[in-house]
Amino acid sequence: MTKKTPVLFIGHGSPMNIILDNSFTRSLGALGKHLPKPKAIMVISAHWLTKGTFVGCMEKPKTIYDFYGFPEKLYETTYPCPGASEEASFVTGAVKKATVKCDHGWGLDHGAWAILKHLYPPADIPVFQLSLDYSFNEWDPKPLQYHYDLAAGLSELRSRGVLIIGSGNIVHNLGMFDYMNIAAKSFDWAVEFDELVKSNLIRGNHQDLIHYTNMGKTAVLAVPTLDHYLPMIYAIALQEKNEPLLFTYEGFQYGSISMRCFQIGSVP
Ligand code: ZN
Repeated sequence: MTKKTPVLFIGHGSPMNIILDNSFTRSLGALGKHLPKPKAIMVISAHWLTKGTFVGCMEKPKTIYDFYGFPEKLYETTYPCPGASEEASFVTGAVKKATVKCDHGWGLDHGAWAILKHLYPPADIPVFQLSLDYSFNEWDPKPLQYHYDLAAGLSELRSRGVLIIGSGNIVHNLGMFDYMNIAAKSFDWAVEFDELVKSNLIRGNHQDLIHYTNMGKTAVLAVPTLDHYLPMIYAIALQEKNEPLLFTYEGFQYGSISMRCFQIGSVP
């Protein structure tokens, strides 16, 4: 139906997944083998929040250890992929909704490299990140519709063979998080919200996903802050009319983190 490169949303969860062999990390490995090898990868990570919108234009993005108190092995792991400055520069011209500037200081945070480590272990595909404009505050939020419209301007990247990945979590509540138990039973409200999002994704009902606060009281618990939800908005904004959406993983970790992942678009 389409020759466009698929778009992914990955629920990345805890940095512990970097070194774990579980059903989630194995699903990423299988997905990386199933997808055609992209020319480059652009990741929209929940962990790069900026004032304004930026793309990483460096030739060798550094591995950022933006997590604390984890086993030493995580800090010894690197993801030495090349950058994709040409594609990043293309984005600065392609997006009309906002001014997108080149950044040379960030690199790859764990929202990007923790999943790429499993998706594409050889680290031989050029990668860059797009930041999330978080310059609003609770009194003056930039609406999700703004981000959705901004993301739609990225669609040409798909024709250029760039794999776009939104990396966050649909349900992400660290205040109600069972730190000790990755296999903890998931909270009822977490499952309920995740299922509501799932049904809206199946129906292609983007407006209800943008106005998620109308989904009832579970939304407040599931999305206490926007950072991990926003990358999903970027992914769905790139779904074309009647384009298929496939869930590549579903499940929970630590009781309150939905690991749901999906792919938009079919593989040729
Ligand atoms: Zn995260």
